[in-house]
Amino acid sequence: MFRWFALPCCLLCLLLPSLAQVKSASPFPGALSAGATPAAAELPKLEKFDPSLVDKTKNACGDFYQYTCSKWVAAHPITPDMPVSSTDLPLFLYNQTILRNALDAAAANKQATGTQRQIGDYYQSCMDEKTRNADGKAWLQPSLNTIASLKSSKDLPRVVAYLHLNFPAASDLWNNDDNYSKAPMFGFGPAQDLADASKMVAGIDQGGMALPSLDYYLDNSDHSKELRAKYVQHVQKMFELAGDSSQKAAAEAKTVMEIETALAKASMDNVTRRDPKAIYNKRTLQQLNAAVPDFGWDEYLQQMGAPSVPFYIVSTPAFLDALEQQIKTRSPQDWQAYLRWWAIHRSAPYLGSDFEKAHFDFFRTTLTGTPQMLPLWRRCVASTDNYLGEALGQAYVNVAFPQESKQRANELVTQIRAALVAEIQQLDWMSDATKKQALIKQSATLQKIGYPDQWRDYSSVKIVPDNYLANVNAANAFEMHRQIAKIGKPVDRNEWTMTPPTINAYEDPQMNTINFPAGIMQLPNFGNQDDASNFGAIGMVIGHETIHGFDDQGRKFDAQGNLRDWWTPEDAKRYDEKDKCIVDQYSQEIPEYGVKQNGNLTAGEDTADNGGIHLAMLALEKQYKAQGKSLDTPEADGLTARQRFFLAYAFSWCEDVRPEAARSQVVSNPHSLAQFRVNRPLSNMPEFQQAFGCKDGQPMVHNPQCRVW
Ligand SMILES: [Zn+2]
Repeated sequence: MFRWFALPCCLLCLLLPSLAQVKSASPFPGALSAGATPAAAELPKLEKFDPSLVDKTKNACGDFYQYTCSKWVAAHPITPDMPVSSTDLPLFLYNQTILRNALDAAAANKQATGTQRQIGDYYQSCMDEKTRNADGKAWLQPSLNTIASLKSSKDLPRVVAYLHLNFPAASDLWNNDDNYSKAPMFGFGPAQDLADASKMVAGIDQGGMALPSLDYYLDNSDHSKELRAKYVQHVQKMFELAGDSSQKAAAEAKTVMEIETALAKASMDNVTRRDPKAIYNKRTLQQLNAAVPDFGWDEYLQQMGAPSVPFYIVSTPAFLDALEQQIKTRSPQDWQAYLRWWAIHRSAPYLGSDFEKAHFDFFRTTLTGTPQMLPLWRRCVASTDNYLGEALGQAYVNVAFPQESKQRANELVTQIRAALVAEIQQLDWMSDATKKQALIKQSATLQKIGYPDQWRDYSSVKIVPDNYLANVNAANAFEMHRQIAKIGKPVDRNEWTMTPPTINAYEDPQMNTINFPAGIMQLPNFGNQDDASNFGAIGMVIGHETIHGFDDQGRKFDAQGNLRDWWTPEDAKRYDEKDKCIVDQYSQEIPEYGVKQNGNLTAGEDTADNGGIHLAMLALEKQYKAQGKSLDTPEADGLTARQRFFLAYAFSWCEDVRPEAARSQVVSNPHSLAQFRVNRPLSNMPEFQQAFGCKDGQPMVHNPQCRVW
């Protein structure tokens, strides 16, 4: 679903899943050999916390993240194809290897039919570099021809709809590649009505900018200016690859930058967008036509196959004004340039290596500092997961997520939610009236574990073995039509927006669901390790998603997912005061990267981290008590269960990030850097202080200790 309403509520920054790579030397060299089924690759070993990894030369009460992570990080330098090295990377390789084995078998099985044939052919079309290099440029031609047919602004709705169907903004937002998730001019798709969450309505969002966030267009630092100059060079290069002369390409690139900058200036920043009311602006079709009279909305909606609805939700009314201004003043040639850029840009990863490499050079190397692409097979596995995820996901679940795992995961979620109930009941700052509402909301939350009960039917998607871009376009159009068909219909809470192998989790405030894909329910987060470690690692994740329903955004939605204030004014005021402690704690300069963290941007995620680890600790305490065991008695490895809880938590977040990627995350992502996600919540916890004997005044004891939930 179109996710601009749905608030940044997932666990990890978008950087991570694109980041996941362990060794640049692939254990599986070479492409598929024709005919033969390749031997299944051996699954790599997963990481888990081990007491020998603790760096005893560091002080647990000084910098717990370094204490837990420095040895692991030193032993796992960032590889050239990754923006980061982290303890989740072995898991990412593990998940991808399972998928690869399934795809290799499907591609080699010439008798395969149905879903197996589709995923096999899709993967094959991606792996076939020879055909991509030979034919890739020609695959662009249908899009370029359509754009060339634009002779006046009257043609814009038809051409933009064509591009939106082939390259929608919607479908892959959750699939972790932010650079691929944007559409030209604006975004369009279904959204749950904020006022009546049982219904799907249509939304129009700001968009049409290819750089990751507004800062890239608007910030006046030398660094940003330099990036903008490089971006214009990149756009020019892509036009040249598509066959334009360098003179024409330079002029086109300048036009693209002008239009995107004008759109950026009228867009809402990512902190303001965190207020659901700010992005909830109802407009009738008549009002849309009045706001942007030079764009034929009727024709656009018809071309998109969108049903007629009483109103549209517009995230940024001022953006529509800017759109009108651009349409009114720009020539057809300007629009051709702008739309050509988008067609080339969004197609580039699926063409020959010249396009793919140029795209990578800017969006990965320049923006995140990653010098090398992942090996081809890993890119192709990720792409199949992205576009045919629920077809491929079944194979993953069969290997990696047996019924026992699902059952234990379900129990853990239930235990953590019980901790939240107990916590709400004894909160001293919340009135009984608000508590009652909070408990109603909590009990109405639907928990989903692992994978969907019913798998998506992709049978209408036409997949061929020898045109990768056509496959991506077909999968995109399928998804966009599927999304648009939701408009005007009741919502389906059972649908998933992440695929089963995804190493992430999310809370959906409007659906009132918490969702944990099978891909994250693995080591080092969950699995064959002691209970304290499982509670510390995955327990915090579960608590984090649970708390999202009650963070600075989630608390504005009620049990039914409607945007409704269910707080008494006094409670809301006390909540804001408590949350401000966290906002202040996280707002600070990060000298090593030369950027400042905005605690208002990360408030929801930080509150969820703090509440999540607290709930996980409460749930573990309850379990130990029921079993008649102590959390504070040293066990065989010399550690107490309470210590292991915190160590396993920190270990699951160990990472080393390239400076470019870190800077990009701090300015544009609502998640704090891993070192802060570890140290700051723990420095707010008396239980941590107790576990490691930390004294007031030491860095790991924050003054004051912030606590909301
Ligand atoms: Zn989150």
